[in-house]
Amino acid sequence: MIGRTLKELGAALAARQVSSTELTQLHLDRIARLNPEINAFVTVDAEKSLAQAKAADARIAAGDAGPLTGIPIAQKDIFCAEGWRTTCGSKMLGNFVSPYDATVIAKFEAAGAVNLGKTNMDEFAMGSSNETSHFGPVKNPWDRSRVPGGSSGGSAAAVASLMAPAATGTDTGGSIRQPAALCNLTGLKPTYGVVSRWGMIAFASSLDQAGPMARTAEDCALMLNAMAGFDDRDSTSLERETEDYCREMAANAGEKPLAGLKIGLPKEFFGEGCDAGVMARVQEAIAEYRKLGAETVEVSLPNMQHGVAAYYVIAPAEASSNLSRYDGVRYGYRAPDYADLDDMYCKTRAQGFGAEVKRRILIGTYVLSHGYYDAYYLQAQRIRRLIANDFVEAFRRCDVIMGPTSPCTAFGLGEKAADPVQMYLSDIYTIAVNLAGLPGMSIPCGFAAGLPVGLQLIGDYFAEARLLNVAHRYQQATGWHLQTPSE
Ligand code: GLN
Repeated sequence: MIGRTLKELGAALAARQVSSTELTQLHLDRIARLNPEINAFVTVDAEKSLAQAKAADARIAAGDAGPLTGIPIAQKDIFCAEGWRTTCGSKMLGNFVSPYDATVIAKFEAAGAVNLGKTNMDEFAMGSSNETSHFGPVKNPWDRSRVPGGSSGGSAAAVASLMAPAATGTDTGGSIRQPAALCNLTGLKPTYGVVSRWGMIAFASSLDQAGPMARTAEDCALMLNAMAGFDDRDSTSLERETEDYCREMAANAGEKPLAGLKIGLPKEFFGEGCDAGVMARVQEAIAEYRKLGAETVEVSLPNMQHGVAAYYVIAPAEASSNLSRYDGVRYGYRAPDYADLDDMYCKTRAQGFGAEVKRRILIGTYVLSHGYYDAYYLQAQRIRRLIANDFVEAFRRCDVIMGPTSPCTAFGLGEKAADPVQMYLSDIYTIAVNLAGLPGMSIPCGFAAGLPVGLQLIGDYFAEARLLNVAHRYQQATGWHLQTPSE
């Protein structure tokens, strides 16, 4: 049962080839064996997971099962889950046990999925390598001397090492797509507002969006079906009709399943700055898409080059505000020794946050301060609008945009940790998508020097079903996504 897709596991559960309890135990055993080295999970609670599995088995026996009922799914430790320690990768929340469920967690529970545990992540989702976690770095299962990507690196490593059949991630600037690329997974960041952010610990609220990380596009669609939907507790949640994200891939499409599809290739994605091995695999994937019937057109995103700069003003600005709540008063870490209230705030925040989080709070406070606000924050917001407009223009000429997800394959642990700007450039191809609020995916498209390469697919607003289908047709024709690392 280890290594099967969600779809296959759902069929096995329905046919009573395995019970949810057995399936959950199998994965817990694998976690016990592999996690001490990979460090993908921060919290595992066998008792809780098995209790959910038992309830799922009862549901299956009663004929009341959905496609995810009984399937264990790992949850990024950014989602509050009732009774579970929820740390967001930070010492600040190292002792925080959530009294409530995030909407995403509640929705998985309603679908009957089993929470397999909470996955490691960069502290408050700030990072591209999972090295900023208070709980130590995660190792890439493809090469344990390398990073899995970030910030959803624990989720990516858990799925890649087959400790979990699938996991959730969140993506503020690339944190689902980049670790998916570096670990040979399929990951989707939905259109902003499609998945509720309620109970998902906030980093940069106008950019944060949760999504699935799995082995196949079909599995991502099943997960998105469970995750998406309007939530009146999130003021940026969109009130839309429920969709079936599997609908396009269900059709029998024949030999040229993507005939008529127009793929836009932004010239900015194919210039300098990308490793040759990555670029070669991306070009081969695009050639495969032509075989599937798609046509390609060149498009341009002229303002994309300013994306990283704009993001590193906007995201820290929002983070500096969101993280002001961690003051040692109501919950989370409090410094043990202090003189008075001000001293308690200072010491708590000095001790509770790591270096990258402090850097972002400082940058954010600076760019929002009187006298600098116009020069930095407002300017960045203008660039954000220009980038979004570039995509609107591009989508007049194509249905989906493709390019690399990450400019390089998994890098060595420690290799970029001392140079924040180098680290920030890991997201040159993903950040613009968040700034525009668009949906984006990464799918496996081969290997460079033995390490996975991801192809990025970007869709117009609410084009998730189409993106998933475009990914699925490629996965029907190729086998890259089925490759797993040797143990
Ligand atoms: N790597 C980017 C950052 O550090 C994006 C992180 C994310 O998407 N959560 O901010």
